[in-house]
Amino acid sequence: MEKNIFEKIRDNESPCELVYKDKYVTAFNDIHPDAPAHILIIPNKKIASLNDILEEDSDYLSNILLVAKKIAKELELDKTGYRLITNCGKDGGQEVDYLHFHLVGGVPLGKMISLPKSSKKILKEIESNAEKNIWKTLHL
Ligand code: 5GP
Repeated sequence: MEKNIFEKIRDNESPCELVYKDKYVTAFNDIHPDAPAHILIIPNKKIASLNDILEEDSDYLSNILLVAKKIAKELELDKTGYRLITNCGKDGGQEVDYLHFHLVGGVPLGKMISLPKSSKKILKEIESNAEKNIWKTLHL
């Protein structure tokens, strides 16, 4: 099967602005940055999304967080703050099917979620219908 873009970047088969690489993790600048600092951090194992993580992936996952902290410190984002995001699936807005975390910062980032108008309408409908409102009542 043909490799996707992040597999090619991981394997040095596609160019990128590399920020960091070690045994577990590759980090590179996003090609279309949404903030002065916008870095993508991927595990060196192909995992499609957060839906697909396994217990055995814990070394990859913990190193993503440790590397995010390391990069943030290196860029002095730790002083002003930053955000680490992973988009999962269609509603999450995931475009590339390879688990990745966006490390963004360098300016105030505003509200965490900015819903499109169409989603605000759906949210209102859900809130007005208590029976459908399962999200607040889940106990895992
Ligand atoms: P998603 O929407 O899947 O969470 O984010 C995918 C991100 O990958 C986007 O922010 C997009 O700009 C970035 N991206 C897509 N193709 C490339 C590429 O070829 N190189 C780099 N560096 N980033 C890419």
